Amino acid sequence: ARQTGRNTLDYFSEESARRAQEKWHLERQMTEALAAHDFQLHYQPIFDLDSNRCIAAEALLRWPSTQLAPDQFIPVAEETGLIHPMGNWILSTAVRQWAQWHDEGRELTYLSVNISVLQLQQPGFIDQAISLTKQYHLPPGRLVLEITESILLQTSPNVLSQINRLRQAGYRLAIDDFGTGFSSLNYLKQLPIDYLKVDRSFVEGIIENNQDSAIYRAIVDMAMAMDIEIVAEGVETPQQMLWLKQQGVTFAQGYFYTQALPPEKFTLYLNAQSEA
Ligand code: C2E
Ligand code: CA
Ligand code: CA
Ligand code: CA
Repeated sequence: ARQTGRNTLDYFSEESARRAQEKWHLERQMTEALAAHDFQLHYQPIFDLDSNRCIAAEALLRWPSTQLAPDQFIPVAEETGLIHPMGNWILSTAVRQWAQWHDEGRELTYLSVNISVLQLQQPGFIDQAISLTKQYHLPPGRLVLEITESILLQTSPNVLSQINRLRQAGYRLAIDDFGTGFSSLNYLKQLPIDYLKVDRSFVEGIIENNQDSAIYRAIVDMAMAMDIEIVAEGVETPQQMLWLKQQGVTFAQGYFYTQALPPEKFTLYLNAQSEA
């Protein structure tokens, strides 16, 4: 047994050494990619279900020279602190893109940017956001900051006060991946939330499964009672889109419309819509 124990230990220490090395390697690659402007933002259209028009967009990070999805490298950026320069780049790139579309006469109701709770906790983040949006004349009410629900579970007083400061500065807030955090819904009363982005796992079953549609219905009712708008994520079929519209859901995004597009393609997408 002793022998086995030692082998197991060796195995675990080798495994963790390998992981640490992978992380270190990824961190170095990401640092280089930031310097070399290797990251891109793509934009996924967000539709108003009433008018059936694209009225907003969510910025999603892409790293084209690798096959890695943001879920695979953002956690490492968070662990290593790289999320701060990376997050600054993401926010300033998105704000500049908004300004470009604005100058071209393409008015989006809002632009949604994902932020990490670590950015919120960073002193100076809010002041930076304020000076950035001022510089590009982006009205703060047109910037939506998406924060994942799971992160709010660890809501420290500091995060709460930062969220309130953001709201006071005029920015709008969305709870991302809503429904996946197993949280008490109490926090919704305490936070100044504008949008609930219902996680796409809830959309999957709404057509075939009565329980799934009942759950979705309950989320919609609650949001309406609290004066919070719903953004349905992961809409993939026309049946899902129509069902959501019937329930009074305001906004939707998903592969039914399109995946996230590089800026030039997003522009063409808007052009095609205004010609239609
Ligand atoms: P998220 O914010 O929940 O983003 C939605 C994800 O679902 C995106 O994956 C998007 O491409 C994908 N998606 C959109 N519509 C559909 C659909 O109809 N069906 C399916 N199956 N998937 C759909 P992506 O781009 O791989 O992003 C994954 C996660 O990485 C994001 O989840 C977000 O948490 C994080 N992330 C992405 N960009 C950023 C960023 O700029 N900053 C931060 N902090 N996190 C980001
Ligand atoms: Ca998001
Ligand atoms: Ca989400
Ligand atoms: Ca997510």
